[in-house]
Amino acid sequence: MVAPQLFDNHGRPITYLRLAVTDRCNLRCFYCMPEEGIKYLPKKELLTFEEIERLITLTASMGISKIRLTGGEPFVRTDLMNLIRKMVSINGIKDVHLTTNGILTTPHIEVLKSLGIASVNLSLDTLDRERFKMITRRDEFEKTWDTLLQLIKHDVPVKINAVVMDGKNIEDILPMVELTKSHPVSVRFIEEMPFNGGESHYDLLPWTFKKIMAHIQVHYPSMIKLQDEAHSTSYNYQVPGYKGNVGVIAAFSRTFCGTCNRIRVTAQGVLKTCLYDDGVLNIKTLMREGRTDEEIRIELLKAFSSRPKNGFEAEEQRKSGAPVMESMSTIGG
Ligand code: SAM
Ligand code: SF4
Repeated sequence: MVAPQLFDNHGRPITYLRLAVTDRCNLRCFYCMPEEGIKYLPKKELLTFEEIERLITLTASMGISKIRLTGGEPFVRTDLMNLIRKMVSINGIKDVHLTTNGILTTPHIEVLKSLGIASVNLSLDTLDRERFKMITRRDEFEKTWDTLLQLIKHDVPVKINAVVMDGKNIEDILPMVELTKSHPVSVRFIEEMPFNGGESHYDLLPWTFKKIMAHIQVHYPSMIKLQDEAHSTSYNYQVPGYKGNVGVIAAFSRTFCGTCNRIRVTAQGVLKTCLYDDGVLNIKTLMREGRTDEEIRIELLKAFSSRPKNGFEAEEQRKSGAPVMESMSTIGG
């Protein structure tokens, strides 16, 4: 059945679903979770593959055409590749993307390519092994680096996600821009957000997207602005003659909400209409109560009929009243 395209109450079409397939992870990035990790969900609280397939099929019938699998670390979930195999064949799904830390990814790259994966976002905040160890609390730099090289070798479009952290990886900004000289990658510098599982929060973010760009432009004055794609969350630039490009994502400053076309579903099957809300609908519960697809569609329409207009409004309206502090590994980024 094809239901009408899903729009929110601000007239924004919803075409992109980001799904966290697990909250578990093999790294402990300090901006994402505390050193001791987070209390993982019992396995029965995760959406099963059947439930995920049903969710994607159902939302595809409402106009979702792009999927991103994320986590936690998606490759920590057993049989992830089988899930991807299913995703790519669902009617209406045009692009399947993946966000990964690259630690367990290399053995799957050929199959990902053959399945037509649209792109991989690889999280890499530094080019220095020691800093990688300090940021992720694990000594695994080589594996992520190898994944980057293998993705490029297999011609899989790749974006590097680098969270910019005061006092931690500022010295990596320029070398990462320089990486785009010889590598056809898009390096995206992301403002650090407070989704870190409860550690310190900024009132004033030291490295805003404006400061990151100003820093880059001092060293690369010839850098040109590229045309950003519709619904892009990054402002994109290129150094003339370089193979790759550079973007900045104002994830804390939230300048991109006006064109937001996303749904997020957390590892426990909770719908977020905004990254900064604290969950508006438990889809897993609806499924396990035996609701029909039509009933779930109606609940989705209701959820999007009162969507906050931006991330600031969503944060103010959090039902728990608690500030943002949950770990990004439950949400997926
Ligand atoms: N484990 C996978 C990975 O790291 O690529 C996928 C999940 S991770 C939560 C998704 C993205 O969220 C990563 O690119 C990560 O850098 C980003 N992220 C996590 N915590 C963040 C924070 N506090 N601020 C900004 N980005 C964050
Ligand atoms: Fe794991 Fe990704 Fe969070 Fe790092 S950012 S701890 S790799 S989920």
